Amino acid sequence: MTIQMPSIYNFSAGPAILPESVLRIAQTEMFDYNGTGFSVMTMSHRSDVFMSILYHAEQDLRQLLNIPDNYKVLFLQGGASAQFNMTVMNLCNGFDRVDSVVTGNWSRIAHSQMGKLSDANIHLAAHGGDLYDYTDLPSPETWDVSPNSAFVHYVINETVHGLQYRDIPKPDGMPPVVCDMSSEILSRPINVADFGLIYAGAQKNIGPSGTTIIIIREDLLDRCSDRVPDVWNYKSHVERQGMYNTPATYPIYISGLVFRWLQSQGGIAQMQTINALKAKILYDAIDNSGGFYINKVKPRARSQMNVIFHTARPELDELFAEESTTRGLRLLRGYKSMGGMRASIYNAMPLQGVEALIEFMQEFQKRYG
Ligand SMILES: *Cc1c(COP(=O)(O)O)cnc(C)c1O
Repeated sequence: MTIQMPSIYNFSAGPAILPESVLRIAQTEMFDYNGTGFSVMTMSHRSDVFMSILYHAEQDLRQLLNIPDNYKVLFLQGGASAQFNMTVMNLCNGFDRVDSVVTGNWSRIAHSQMGKLSDANIHLAAHGGDLYDYTDLPSPETWDVSPNSAFVHYVINETVHGLQYRDIPKPDGMPPVVCDMSSEILSRPINVADFGLIYAGAQKNIGPSGTTIIIIREDLLDRCSDRVPDVWNYKSHVERQGMYNTPATYPIYISGLVFRWLQSQGGIAQMQTINALKAKILYDAIDNSGGFYINKVKPRARSQMNVIFHTARPELDELFAEESTTRGLRLLRGYKSMGGMRASIYNAMPLQGVEALIEFMQEFQKRYG
């Protein structure tokens, strides 16, 4: 007799769901990668085998995002948070101002950190909290940026507040654009040439925690001063092909498997179609609940990756979180300071997972509405 196990859907904001087929490959290769007799975890980062894993991960990422040749790709450690400072340490040489757009939790933290170890003036270019209490996004035309600034920094998808620039800001009249794409990279096509530097921690929409992707326009490397210690210096990492020190080998390996999975799914354009559908049916379910479920974000700014919602009562939210868990719908509790619920529906979340969530939401409302 076979026992039908209930499906588990992981709505965690990060570290987050990974494609099951990727984890199965990793399982198969755990003790013996490709006939080497070694696990990827236990081989030298300078071995031909690992160098090949890194090379192909970069090439596949380049193919998926259509990264132009004048951009360098790095897989660094330190998380997205390290980039709040690395960007400033490396890109402000000869500049005295950075423009910073605050639209939610992560850009707020970035703004508070960027000035440390730097004399640059971290200029608040727009504040979505003051303007909209983080229920909408200041449009790029209203950002107070100077073409003479070292760069403008913004977060394209605010993981906690459930906000996303659905129209990607255009760089016209702006200094180089530095963008935190941690929770949406690879979810939709982008024009890399619109950015000076893109960074993304892997653990939201790519792979396990431990590696952070940096995509940097070549000419910006000229700004990196030798006074910046090598371990924090983009140029020294690029000059040593990402091998200045030991990279996070296993997370890079898994990320590479995810890139291949994305290719097998039809690439980023196909992902965008599915992601748009998943987000639409979930927001529709919220909006059509007669006010039982609430999301206050303006439709134009709603994230297709992190869908936040709550009911009218915190006790009911708590009950929702508890009951959903017993139905295999996991980690739906909202961010600690936000309360309510958050469904993170990254690339690896299948449509069926969102459908199962909606079914539960409707049934829960019947009982408590
Ligand atoms: C999670 C997250 C971060 C922080 O990532 P760490 O890897 O923990 O430093 C930064 N920015 C965004 C948009 C995030 O979602």
